[in-house]
Amino acid sequence: MNEEARKNGHGSGRRSTPKILLVEDERHLAQGIAENLEDEGHHVTVESHGARALDTLLDETWDLAILDVMLPGLDGFEICRRARTQGSNVPILFLSARGEVDDRIRGLEAGGDDYLPKPFHLRELLLRVDRILDRTARETQAGASTGEEVRFGDNVFSFRTYEGLSWDERSHTLTHKEAMILRCLVRRRGEVVKREDILEEVWGHEVFPSTRTIDNFILRLRKRFEPDPERPVFFHTVRGVGYRFTQAPSADAPSGDPRALSSSNESGSPR
Ligand code: CA
Repeated sequence: MNEEARKNGHGSGRRSTPKILLVEDERHLAQGIAENLEDEGHHVTVESHGARALDTLLDETWDLAILDVMLPGLDGFEICRRARTQGSNVPILFLSARGEVDDRIRGLEAGGDDYLPKPFHLRELLLRVDRILDRTARETQAGASTGEEVRFGDNVFSFRTYEGLSWDERSHTLTHKEAMILRCLVRRRGEVVKREDILEEVWGHEVFPSTRTIDNFILRLRKRFEPDPERPVFFHTVRGVGYRFTQAPSADAPSGDPRALSSSNESGSPR
């Protein structure tokens, strides 16, 4: 394959050799997973120690990170949380012996994309890896082809780079999931979007985070972009249903009155 084709990827829009970071401290399991992923045409780097894994994750660009939860040094959730805090958008799939619902939710709340309880069939792991890589390739392409950028109030955000600048001139790098939720709301601006619709669009059918997870993501978006997160003017709660995004600050106040936006009327409440 020539250099151009390798750079651009082909067909599905995926890079021709996806780079996967596998963090797993059970040596035989790590070896088995790595061999299988390499047979599928992926390039795999294995780390077995939590703190080193975080460095490796942040030092390079990856198409996917597979994180075991119980690790020496730093657990998988914490690696994910810290990576997200430092602006990494890499898709993350957790592997864990702990298959409890609470742990799945913890993983998703830490910023993970999917969760596979141990023991699992290698075939299932490969299918999930495939699905994540396909989905992110599609999303990247969709963002790149429209060069999408959204401006709301004095905030601006790019769906291509996941970088944004908020009204107070702070720069933000959104996680993949935050960006997907923002995209979902922006695409349906002005409409009430049900929590279930957000779950389906952003997480798909394979995992089932609670609706509380969505609420937490919305709180994070408000903290980033709302001048007063307690009285949102962009990300409105529609109680018992979901959320509504308005692109221009909606304060239901007469236009031309500069005090309107800071007045205490209930701009963020459901009507
Ligand atoms: Ca382990």
